[in-house]
Formats: sequence, structure tokens, C-alpha cells
Amino acid sequence: VSQSASKLPSKILELMDGFRASKALFVASKLKIFDHLKDKGPMKAVDVANDVGTSVCGTERLLDACASLGLLEKTSQGYSNTDSANTYLTSDGKYSLHGYIIHSNDHLWPLFTNLESAVKEGSRQNHRAFGKKADDLFKDYYHSQEVKQRFMAAMHSIAHLTARDVATAFDLSKFKSACDLGGCTGALAHELVQVYPNLKVTVFDLPEVIANTSYFQPSGQHTAPVTFVSGDFFKDNLPEADLYILSRVLHDWPDEKIHVLLSKISAVCRPGCAILVAEMVLDDEKKNRSTALLQSLNMLVQTEGKERSGCEYQALLEKHGFTNVKIRITGNLLDWIAEYEIRRKKRCR
Ligand code: SAM
Repeated sequence: VSQSASKLPSKILELMDGFRASKALFVASKLKIFDHLKDKGPMKAVDVANDVGTSVCGTERLLDACASLGLLEKTSQGYSNTDSANTYLTSDGKYSLHGYIIHSNDHLWPLFTNLESAVKEGSRQNHRAFGKKADDLFKDYYHSQEVKQRFMAAMHSIAHLTARDVATAFDLSKFKSACDLGGCTGALAHELVQVYPNLKVTVFDLPEVIANTSYFQPSGQHTAPVTFVSGDFFKDNLPEADLYILSRVLHDWPDEKIHVLLSKISAVCRPGCAILVAEMVLDDEKKNRSTALLQSLNMLVQTEGKERSGCEYQALLEKHGFTNVKIRITGNLLDWIAEYEIRRKKRCR
């Protein structure tokens, strides 16, 4: 006897198929189909296939699948982008997610293929996915210009989407200077100077990253310039600032390394300084926020870090004299970003 439609385990079936939909999105993005359709749509499958250099039968199936997923519209004139494809899936828009999608296809997909080993061994799988074992994930990312560019484009695209919420979750207007540690391309820094025109923002990141930031700078922007400084935040002196920002940085590291970093920040903080942490935050029981819980698996396959709950972040921060922890769940499009504003009460050493 077959199951009636109302009794089908639809959630499970959706999850079983989820990877097919992800891969259809990744391949259409990789082939830049959304760029072609933005410029020339509506287009027939045969014309898309000729432009892109793919088979007609394969392209037609991919376009139909994308239309069924709500990424494209299909009419008698052919296929065209939905508004959301124009905004998020073309490669050149301000809010383009193209960089992160390519990173997901080329980097995260091979890592997730080794999730079973990661769970069995409790450790990162870069050596299985990419055949090499580097000391940390950033050495893996920055060993080649191509991989570095892809990673930076991914961080840039996701940071654009979340930067406004990170910048405005707290009123930061009392701060005169901010240092975005691990600030990568400066996407958040540029948002901060737009929201707080009097704030001087320094982006601090590894030399390989700072050497590659010019490609990502906004053109014709009329805000205060952002300063870029290269260094290793575990070893080098940190730039002076009233506000230190750690956006998607702490989740890359185990507690021991976080203690090294927080004690360095703590040592240079004057009274009244603050730290702003932007991360996906797990609920205390670790059972509700599946985006953040899946992100923690993403950390397992490639880093020594993990996502943490608000209480866990609070405990880490309080060990270094940062009190008055406040959390805002912003409900941002992709992320649950929580932010902590921590003011030192003790006098700095
Ligand atoms: N803050 C950005 C964001 O929210 O999109 C980028 C986050 S990315 C996951 C982590 C950043 O930390 C990278 O840009 C990386 O280069 C930087 N980073 C890693 N290790 C570092 C170190 N030892 N010193 C300085 N920056 C480092």
C-alpha cells in the first residue's frame, strides 16, 4: 500500500534531495548563466547553451530545474532571471553571493564529502579533500593566488550582506577608532565609515590578504578612507583602537587560541574600550538554530574552531576582563549574527 501524499515524510525527502538543488545552483552560477540572462534574457535553452558552450539537452534540464526552484522564470520567450537572481546570483552586483557560491562548490563541497571522516576523527579534512596538510586553514587558502582570490571573494560577498546589520546592531557612535581584526577585504570597514562618518577604521589581516585588497575596494566612494595594516594577530602588535571587531574570526579557532588573541586585545585596551564580536550564535541548548549548527559542521570539516553559544562566548570574554556582555540576534538574511559589546571595567595593565 503506498503512502498518501499527506503522510509522506516531506522534510526527510527534502533533505535527501537538498544536495541536488544546491549543486544545480552551484553549476548555474559557475557557468555564469545568471549573468548571461541578466544581459540578454529571456533566452531559449539552445541560445544559452551556445553562449556558454554546453550541451543543449543538459542546459535545458538545468534551466528547468532552476526555474522550478524559483531562481528563473520560464515563459514562451524563454528563460529569464527572477529579481532575486538579478540581485544575488549575478557576479557583479553589490549584494552578489556569486563569490560565496563558487567557494561552496569548489571548496566546501569537497570538504563536506569527507564529513563522515570528520565526524569519526573529530578533525578537519583538508588533507583528504585537497591532498595536503597545512598547519591551519589560512595556509591552505593562501598558498595559491587563485584559491586566495576565491576565498576573499566569498568573504566579501557574505560580508556585504551582513555588514549593515553588524554595523547598526549597537550604537557605535561614541567610538573614535575601530580595528577590524581579520577584516579581510574591508567590506565591513567600508560599511562602518558610511554609518559612522567620524569613525577611523583600520583593517588588520595577514600580509597575503592585505596585499590583495585593492581588487575589492569600492570605486567613487565619498567616505573616509579605510586603513589597511598587515600582521598576525597572534604574534604582532595590534593597532591602537577604541573598538576591536572580531567578525567571523573566533569561530575559526579553538579556545586555547582564542585566549591568546583575547589576552592580546585585553592588554592594549584602555578603559572604555570595547570588543564587537559578530558570529552566528548557537542557542544555549544547541538544538534550535540549524543554520548555525550546520555552520559548526562547516567549521569541523575545515578548521580547529566551532560555533559557540552566547554563554560560551561570554565565558571566554569574561576571562579577559571584558564585562557587560550584550547580545543582539539580528535575524540577518543568511546569518544569525550576535554581537557583544564589552567594556573593560578594570584599569588596563
Ligand atoms: N572578518 C571577515 C568577515 O567577517 O567576513 C573575514 C572572516 S574570515 C572567516 C577570517 C579572517 O581572519 C580572514 O580574513 C583571515 O585572513 C584572517 N586571519 C586568520 N588568521 C589571522 C592571523 N593570524 N592574523 C590576522 N588575520 C588572520
